[in-house]
Amino acid sequence: MENKQLGATAATLVPLAPKNGRRILFFPYPQQGHISPMLHLANLLHSKGFTITIIHTNLNSPNQSDYPHFTFRPFDDGFPPNSKVSHLETLCSRCVEPFRECLAQIMLSDHTAPGGERESIACLIADVSWNFLGAAADNFKLPTIILRTANISNALAIVKLPHFIEKGYFDHTIEGSELKAAVPEFPTINFKDIRKTYGINPKAICETLTSLLKVMKATSGVIWNSCKELEESEMQMICEEFPVPHFLIGPLHKYIPGPASSLIAYDPSSISWLNSKAPKSVIYVSYGSLSSMDETEFLEMAWGLANSMQQFLWVVRPGSVRGFEWLEALPDGFIDKLDGRGHIVKWAPQLEVLAHQATGGFWTHCGWNSTLESICEGVPMIWSRGMMDQPINARYVTDVWRVGIELEKGKEREEIKQAIRRLMVDKEGQEIRERSSRLKETLSNCLKQGGSSRDSVESLVDHILSL
Ligand code: UDP
Repeated sequence: MENKQLGATAATLVPLAPKNGRRILFFPYPQQGHISPMLHLANLLHSKGFTITIIHTNLNSPNQSDYPHFTFRPFDDGFPPNSKVSHLETLCSRCVEPFRECLAQIMLSDHTAPGGERESIACLIADVSWNFLGAAADNFKLPTIILRTANISNALAIVKLPHFIEKGYFDHTIEGSELKAAVPEFPTINFKDIRKTYGINPKAICETLTSLLKVMKATSGVIWNSCKELEESEMQMICEEFPVPHFLIGPLHKYIPGPASSLIAYDPSSISWLNSKAPKSVIYVSYGSLSSMDETEFLEMAWGLANSMQQFLWVVRPGSVRGFEWLEALPDGFIDKLDGRGHIVKWAPQLEVLAHQATGGFWTHCGWNSTLESICEGVPMIWSRGMMDQPINARYVTDVWRVGIELEKGKEREEIKQAIRRLMVDKEGQEIRERSSRLKETLSNCLKQGGSSRDSVESLVDHILSL
């Protein structure tokens, strides 16, 4: 199966600035939603004249052949090939030493660019999830810049998490309809959102999350895959909270067409199936690269989709229905009875699917990459459930930017059917679609010459050259 998106390698498409004699080291966290934005950023900075080294784990290593213009420096994390990404702290503790050794080898080696010119290492750009960065890079006096692959609103919620716990926002004293009330210190979101985001035992993760954020205070800057047009007031708050340079340069995937560094092979039938469909007639369904569900939820989804009488392209990752390999939980004959209205794949070229003229809606878990990708193509969304950063992303989608619908109960076929019809057939859906088109335009403008993100990229380049 083809493992490329939009059919071209970045190397052939990047309009290169002259080499500036500086190399940047990148260190992505090995999950799909973290690797893609990091490699998009590396491509962007390569186009600005930097040479690029990607330091990475063996676990979920990026596809090197998609990036012949980068140098790759893998290190052995001790995990067997094809293991699942482990718990953040386990992964970090396994990587700290091999990363330090890998960095030492790079820093102590002769720095000659591919053309033979001398070059110096400008900085390390690393994912915020690596909790050992400061110490490792400090040994070499190497400036570190953090890439946050989630949005600013979520970082602000983490900043306030200890206060939310202290105020008892997770206690059972807030129940029923009160859960829908706005959180006083963060009125965009409600109590239900923070419960979904942090679960029932937020104390257990509070220290990990807040310590990761504190790392930002000691860095040479923070890059956000977001833009001023989406999070302007949040940007001001984060700048006050973390007084380091902040660069809002998203959406990163829109600068340079090229591969999306997918860890899983795309099923090309996603696009051939869409090609035969009328404009905006298909709802695309995907819950990203990590989430899983039980059999009951899967079947409610299946029947909700079938009963909506709308066409759908549904990504079901193998193993994502707990206890099953792939689709075995579906009743016999389910797909045949759809009469061609539904197509199920294991993994789709999502950027291409969202940009396809047949795609009229996206039922998503609201991971930040999926959310941005959908906004960029003007595709309205449905959100049903999620965790971590997803409930807060979804609140912005449904209530702030108003480009999506929330499934309140989230897991019942009748509600699913109604929501799909509201989005795909009803007048309400038409209005949401119009707002989505306007937001798409706004985001496209921020990437043009003089746009906020484009300007921020120039500031970032100047900043890196000044380090
Ligand atoms: N994705 C894809 N094909 C699929 C499903 C997802 O290429 O069938 C990509 C999607 O384009 C996005 C990433 O996987 O860039 C998922 O990241 P996101 O932040 O949305 O969610 P996560 O996987 O981190 O929960």
